[in-house]
Amino acid sequence: MERTLVLLKPDAVKRGFMGKILSRFEDAGLKVIGAKMVWIDKNLGEKHYNDIGKVQQRHGEMVFQALLRFMASGPVMALCLEGVNVVENVRKMCGGTEPKSAAPGTIRGDFSHISYAQADQQGKAIENIVHASGNADEAKQEIALWFKPEELHSYKTVHEVHVF
Ligand code: ADP
Repeated sequence: MERTLVLLKPDAVKRGFMGKILSRFEDAGLKVIGAKMVWIDKNLGEKHYNDIGKVQQRHGEMVFQALLRFMASGPVMALCLEGVNVVENVRKMCGGTEPKSAAPGTIRGDFSHISYAQADQQGKAIENIVHASGNADEAKQEIALWFKPEELHSYKTVHEVHVF
C-alpha cells in the first residue's frame, strides 16, 4: 500500500471542481486519509517545488516565479491518498502537464485546455488543475511537508473488503 500527495490547485478551487475531482479518486477506490484547504505563501510554494520538484532547474526562473505566483493566488486543497501503486495511478489519472496535450478522460484533459505557448505568451504558469507526487520518494517528502502526522487518518473503507 502506497501514499501520494495531490494538490487541487487554485484554478480547480476557484472554478468549483473540488468535488468532481475528489469523486474521481474516490470512485477509483482510493482512500482519502488527509484533506485540507491551505492558502500557501511563496515560502511553502518554494519548498514544495524547489526542494522536491526542482522546477527551477527544469523550466527556468521565469516559469518558477510564475508558478509560485499562481500557487499563492488562492487556496489549494491538499489531499493525501492511499492505494495500490497510488503514485503511478494518480499521475495517470491526472494526465500530462500541458492541458492541450493531456489525453481526454484525464483530469487535466477534461477540465483544462491551454497550451505552453499561450501560458508563456502571458508570462503565466500553466494552470493545470492538479499536482500529484512524481514518485514514491517525492510522495514521502511532500506528505511530510503538507501534513502533520495527526492530520492523517487510519480507518477502514468498504473497498478494503471488496476491491483490495
Ligand atoms: P507536473 O506538475 O506535471 O509534474 P512539472 O513538475 O514539470 O509538471 O511542472 C510543475 C508545474 O509548473 C506544472 O504543473 C505547471 O503548472 C507549471 N509549468 C511547467 N512547465 C511550464 C511552462 N513551460 N510554462 C508555464 N508553466 C509551466
